[in-house]
Amino acid sequence: MDDIFTQCREGNAVAVRLWLDNTENDLNQGDDHGFSPLHWACREGRSSVVDMLIMRGARINVMNRGDDTPLHLASSHGHRDIVGKLIQCKADTNTANEHGNTPLHYACFWGQELVAEDLVTNGAQVNICNKYGETPLDKAKPHLREALQGIQHPITLQCCQEKGDYYLCKAEKLGQSLTKVPFKDTFWKGTTRTRPRNGTLNKAAGIDFKQLSLLAKINENQSGELWQGRWQGNEVVVKVLKVRDWSTRKSRDFNEEYPKLRIFSHPNVLPMLGACQSPPAPHPIIITHWMPYGSLYNVLHEGTNFVVDQTQAVKFALDIACGMAFLHTLEPMISRHSLNSKSVMIDEDMTARISMSDVKFSFQCPGRMYSPAWVAPEALQKKPEEINRRSADMWSFAVLLWELVTREVPFADLSNMEIGMKVALEGLRPTIPPGISPHICKLMKICMNEDPAKRPKFDMIVPILEKMQDK
Ligand code: ATP
Ligand code: MN
Repeated sequence: MDDIFTQCREGNAVAVRLWLDNTENDLNQGDDHGFSPLHWACREGRSSVVDMLIMRGARINVMNRGDDTPLHLASSHGHRDIVGKLIQCKADTNTANEHGNTPLHYACFWGQELVAEDLVTNGAQVNICNKYGETPLDKAKPHLREALQGIQHPITLQCCQEKGDYYLCKAEKLGQSLTKVPFKDTFWKGTTRTRPRNGTLNKAAGIDFKQLSLLAKINENQSGELWQGRWQGNEVVVKVLKVRDWSTRKSRDFNEEYPKLRIFSHPNVLPMLGACQSPPAPHPIIITHWMPYGSLYNVLHEGTNFVVDQTQAVKFALDIACGMAFLHTLEPMISRHSLNSKSVMIDEDMTARISMSDVKFSFQCPGRMYSPAWVAPEALQKKPEEINRRSADMWSFAVLLWELVTREVPFADLSNMEIGMKVALEGLRPTIPPGISPHICKLMKICMNEDPAKRPKFDMIVPILEKMQDK
């Protein structure tokens, strides 16, 4: 079978859909030149494949090796409908590639007039310089002339030059400065551009321990040691699990359980990449991608890099809700997953991703409650098989919402033991301080309904959060 890049390039919608339905496939992976499936579909004008990829969470501002985004490719090739879709999904219209060229530079260079017009209407700057000091307007004239030489009637050329002036007028009306904006090497910093991931990572579930290099120990606790390391040229985190009385039975359980955590098919789920058992005395080892910002807990309560304002808080909440909505469609659902801010990781492009490496194995201290502050009251009291997991997860999400808007640790002054007791038996609940947006307040209350059956489902609150984001 052809690979996913070929399928997207050729617009083979059925094959792409089948591929996307396999949880082991990562739609944000790249080929040898860093083209993601979305790059290829945009380049070749495969609208229905583009729709599918976007719906499944393809990253919009992803860059190939030459720093081209899908919008660069759709603009160069004049796929106006796709340019429209990308813009609607908040594609950055002024993103510059390795030459400093923006999508508008290419639309002008290739004479894609309607596309150029759409870009300008949506904020593309007509006077932004590339590395060679050329603006999109500069490109619209001489290069167009070259391209059209011999093929096109001079009249067309005339039109195009007028068109250049027309953009200028239009841009002026839109309030753009008409002086040249010099090229800045760091222009893109602060936007959400990102590289596709190495696609070979999701092919190797079993890892050869000898190929792993452990570089620095990050943490050690009851469940094991956490190391920063490298594997096949990628920055990874290696967790060496501490397990008492390792047995063939536990080893078998491990080999059965870890492949279920290799979920590559959703952008808000962080897969476990693979696992092995290290010789001589076997320690089960799992690896995952290195996340530069650490966990949501780190970002909210320990980070100094940036402040999570309300817009970012809603974005994180939306990411988490999308990831949970997806996990809740899996049949059977992942067992022993608990949602809290320590098991949500923040990726380089500020996407929140639910960490599959924080799902516990059956042999890891069964019965131990790790983060009771996020656990639903009924889940603290009953056996796992007696509760509705989906409803209990919604409670955990409500506590996360509380944490996102207050930027406080829930029940920070109590020990885990006290939290568990008081939430389960004494009606202890997070209190909503004044000054919180009424929309978020209302959502929090709905999600934290005392009656598990009355809590909403994640796919119901995704559109609510999307609306909040637009405000
Ligand atoms: P538990 O053992 O129950 O999961 P924990 O989450 O506190 O407890 P670790 O999973 O060892 O402990 O994580 C310790 C710290 O390592 C976290 O606070 C986080 O900052 C960092 N960390 C964990 N996973 C990653 C990752 N994939 N990328 C970068 N940092 C990570
Ligand atoms: Mn952890």
